[in-house]
Amino acid sequence: MVTAVERIYDLDGGIAEVADASIYSPGIDVGKPLSLSCNAYLIRRAGQWILWDTGTGDELVTMPGGKIIAHGIRGVVTRTLMSQLAEIGVDPGDVSLLMLSHAHFDHVGNTRLFPKAKWIVQRKEYEAMFGPDFEEYGFSPELYKTLRDNPTEIVEGDHDVFGDGSIRLISTPGHTPGHSSLGVRLPKSGTIILSGDVAHFESNFVHRRVPEFNFDAGQTRASMDKIDGIIRSEGAQLWINHDTVQCATIPHAPQWVE
Ligand SMILES: [Zn+2]
Repeated sequence: MVTAVERIYDLDGGIAEVADASIYSPGIDVGKPLSLSCNAYLIRRAGQWILWDTGTGDELVTMPGGKIIAHGIRGVVTRTLMSQLAEIGVDPGDVSLLMLSHAHFDHVGNTRLFPKAKWIVQRKEYEAMFGPDFEEYGFSPELYKTLRDNPTEIVEGDHDVFGDGSIRLISTPGHTPGHSSLGVRLPKSGTIILSGDVAHFESNFVHRRVPEFNFDAGQTRASMDKIDGIIRSEGAQLWINHDTVQCATIPHAPQWVE
């Protein structure tokens, strides 16, 4: 496939643990504990380093049992993002473009490492993050306060980042007001869609189940339909960030996928 994207690295962004899996799938697996993989993704495109999500904060590596951060969800970190970038040979200052699926702790935990990166953000997410109702969305502004000073481009809806289809921000609201997924066109693998939290694992995507803490259930289902449509029309793969089973099948940094 002709694309300016060279490769993608899947970075370990920690683990999210919950005591009751049914917060993600109401009525299903009630009272069963669940561990979710968390991932961040580093993309090499035309010599540029681009980061999609930043995982859970590196500082949690000093707390072996992790810490409950929001929605009763415990974040656990065993490998820092910094150390994984170092293994690839990337300094945080080399990352020139930062995009986030949304502003929950397991996605914005290390944004402070990239103060010079240009941040592309949906207007509705930006307003929710820095507006008065951040708690309603489960956001913790102290985790991402440095983003206020990043060079910022605010967009609304779908956004073709380089105008060549190689990397596309796909508007998928519902989990949060300005939630997004990312379409990445790779030279050998074709299009991979990085889910964000449009669904947390495959069965939720297949059955259109909506977590109880989502901002809007109807928007969430419409966003899953939208992603499903892209998968079907483009033969795209969907990498579901929190799907622990699928995560184990994807090569992780310092390996990469082309
Ligand atoms: Zn998440």
